[in-house]
Amino acid sequence: MTIRIRSAAGDAPGAGAPADGADADERALSLSPSRASDFMTCPLLYRFRTIDRLPEPPSADATRGTVVHSVLERLFDLPAAERTPDRARTMVRPAWDALLELEPAVADLFADDGDGSALAGWLGSAEDLIQRYFTLEDPQHLEPAERELYVETRLDSGLRLRGYVDRLDRAVHSGDLRVVDYKTGKAPRAGFEQRAMFQMRFYALVLWRLHGRVPRLLQLIYLGSGEILRYEPDEADLRATERKVAALWQAIERATVNGDWRPSPSRLCDWCNHKALCPAYGGTPPPLPAAVVAGDDDEAPSPRTSPVDA
Ligand code: SF4
Repeated sequence: MTIRIRSAAGDAPGAGAPADGADADERALSLSPSRASDFMTCPLLYRFRTIDRLPEPPSADATRGTVVHSVLERLFDLPAAERTPDRARTMVRPAWDALLELEPAVADLFADDGDGSALAGWLGSAEDLIQRYFTLEDPQHLEPAERELYVETRLDSGLRLRGYVDRLDRAVHSGDLRVVDYKTGKAPRAGFEQRAMFQMRFYALVLWRLHGRVPRLLQLIYLGSGEILRYEPDEADLRATERKVAALWQAIERATVNGDWRPSPSRLCDWCNHKALCPAYGGTPPPLPAAVVAGDDDEAPSPRTSPVDA
């Protein structure tokens, strides 16, 4: 059962690294939760992002997500007593400046912002999210074992599962693991939590395979609505997740072999950057690249400036 916790504030607005040197065959057999979610949402979206690798402009929401994630990661570099809301809010602007340096294209978000008011408002909204974080957790009483942790494992089929865990907490005495992910959006409506929890089960499966221990708790922190979703997985859950991922991968391989990437229209199309190329909206996809590689999946922890992981 998923447990939902709501902030009293209401509804106001890692370590490690991927195997960058992995050869093409290795990379071709890898899947992250984001790309798995793309395929489940719309096979054509998966194709555009993973096979065509079409560029996507940074979005204000996703870029704010990157800044907020960065602040929440670095907050734990501070001594516990300094992890206060005021101190954390002062970290927003430097996180934005660091992102600008790393990815200058994000400046385009505010290209028409002559008097700086749009940027100031956007930074303020990031500070609001940080403020809300403190209504959900007290970081002065937390010492994460890992932040932005790259995890990867290989299933018996040869498929590699990989991704970045925002935070991993380890209980001092029992060694129990808690997997934590921050979302800057709002929590899903009642009845839709399980889909949101897929990403966390995916990470739990990878961690179980890596450490031989099922994480005790999966925790999604929704800063947009001030809610926490919690779930306690067991081995049966993770075996079911493994079967689901294997079936998903088979479907991706079939689509790759057949070149059959069907659009699956939904209300999420309103946020799709590739609507103009989508047959469901009168568009024509570009020709498939000559060498199609199904799972050349380059998920990175940050910058998260496309609207995938905010
Ligand atoms: S517009 Fe909708 S159906 Fe078309 S590719 Fe994007 S998500 Fe899929």
